[in-house]
Amino acid sequence: MGLTIPEDMDDLFYFSRRAMGEGKAMAWVYRPECLECHKAKMGKPVNEKTGKAKIRAKEYVCPECQHTVPKEEFEETCQMEIAYTCPHCKKEGEAITLYKLKSFEGVKAYVFECEHCGKKLGITKKMKAPKKK
Ligand SMILES: [Zn+2]
Ligand SMILES: [Zn+2]
Repeated sequence: MGLTIPEDMDDLFYFSRRAMGEGKAMAWVYRPECLECHKAKMGKPVNEKTGKAKIRAKEYVCPECQHTVPKEEFEETCQMEIAYTCPHCKKEGEAITLYKLKSFEGVKAYVFECEHCGKKLGITKKMKAPKKK
C-alpha cells in the first residue's frame, strides 16, 4: 500500500501509538479537505479571542467557507491509516480503516485486518489516566 508516515502533526487530528499484545500499531487520521469548497482542510473551530482551536468543540468547520459538520458524523467518514506489527504472525503491515469505533473483544476499538494472516486486530480507545488527587 505504501502509507506516508505523517511528519507534521498539524495535518492530523488523531495520532496514536499502541501496543497490541506482542505487536504494536501506529495509527493516524489526516484532516480531510472540505467537501464543499475543496480549498481548505477541515478543522476544529478556532476561538477568535485566543486564536487557538476549540479542542472540545462538537463540530468541525472549514476555515475557508465555514462549512460545518457535526463531530460524530464527520469522524466516521474519515480514514484511519495504520502501520502495525501483527501480534499473531509477527509481520509488519499497513491497513486503512474507518475512523469509527466498533466492538472488539468486548471493548471499543478501531478494527482492521492483518494483511498477512487475516486476523482481526483492534486499536483500543485510550484508557483514561487515573485522576491525580
Ligand atoms: Zn470549505
Ligand atoms: Zn498477521
